Amino acid sequence: MSPPLPPSAWSLLPAEWKPLCKELGLPAFRSEQIVTGLYQNFAQSWQELTTLPAGLRDTLAERLSLTPLETVHIHESADGVRKLLLACADGERIETVLIPSKDRVTQCISTQVGCAFGCAFCASGAAGCVRDLTAGEIVAEVMAACHLMRASAVLPSPRPGAKPALPRPGNIVVMGMGEPFANYDNVLRALRILNDQKGVNIGARHITLSTCGVVPGIRRLAEEGLQFELSVSLHAPDDALRDRLMPVNKRWPIATLLDTCRDYTEKTGRVVTFEYTLVKGLNDRPHHADALIRLLRHLPCKVNLIPLSPVEGTGFERPEDRTCLAFLDTLLKAKINTTLRKSRGKDVDAACGQLRLRKQLNPL
Ligand code: SAH
Repeated sequence: MSPPLPPSAWSLLPAEWKPLCKELGLPAFRSEQIVTGLYQNFAQSWQELTTLPAGLRDTLAERLSLTPLETVHIHESADGVRKLLLACADGERIETVLIPSKDRVTQCISTQVGCAFGCAFCASGAAGCVRDLTAGEIVAEVMAACHLMRASAVLPSPRPGAKPALPRPGNIVVMGMGEPFANYDNVLRALRILNDQKGVNIGARHITLSTCGVVPGIRRLAEEGLQFELSVSLHAPDDALRDRLMPVNKRWPIATLLDTCRDYTEKTGRVVTFEYTLVKGLNDRPHHADALIRLLRHLPCKVNLIPLSPVEGTGFERPEDRTCLAFLDTLLKAKINTTLRKSRGKDVDAACGQLRLRKQLNPL
């Protein structure tokens, strides 16, 4: 068996390089050079850090690996959404999606290989959870995106005279494969590195965590004093239906979940967004909208409606556009701050876990 790889260089917070350099007997400026090499120049191997002496690059390579995730496949849809299938060092595959808009690229990242929560309509849970991603692997997803963006100039051109922006996503949404609060420590470490001004430098309010409703994770996040956005996947206005769609509801039912969200808002001053995937005939009827209004009326929150992206074999279908618009209208009329997500990347299986699943079923 080959020896285990050393931990990833991308798993260290920028501030952790200084003590490490000290331990290695190096001057402090080396830590600055390393952090610049990693997050300004997007080095993908120690040999690319040419500001460092060759011997030092070898020493660092023994301590920490600097190996990008392998891009196995890129699916590009007509609307510019790109979905990357990436392979980890142990061969496990994960997905990340790049969604361009007028002035920025939003990247959707994965936090686990598979998922243990088994939501009925979601492809990620189809085969359970294989393993957690490390913080370094999560950051490496963003590094893969930066590389692709640099190579393909998907950034808007800078204003005349302005310094060209570094090729990196402007928004991160933790809505790919996996449940972030089931891998809390690694996810939070990765997000801190992405947020750090000396790291990837993505503003906290441009980073959104999405949970299926893992109540202890929400409580823990409330104590962190961070400004990340929080989304909670609700998908049903009553326990009977939510139990069917999301087994997590049996552990933390709607009342417990909403109480926790209320506490979260009181503690952090941040409003929670509830995601509600619209599934034809199941949770998209007018009486569901009315029940949702009754549930959320007195809670400061936002709602994001997501028309289902159907997953083969689940039997669930996407509602008609007019049904989605009617649902939106009912919530807006009740003064609930609601958006309807435009489905993008439909032709690249852009819903969570779909590309990985398809590639397992049909590797070509
Ligand atoms: N585990 C986390 C984050 C990953 S999924 C969570 O559950 O929130 C991100 C969002 O996409 C969740 O709201 C999830 O329920 C939703 N989703 C999953 N599969 C989907 C599909 N096929 N169509 C539409 N939304 C889907």
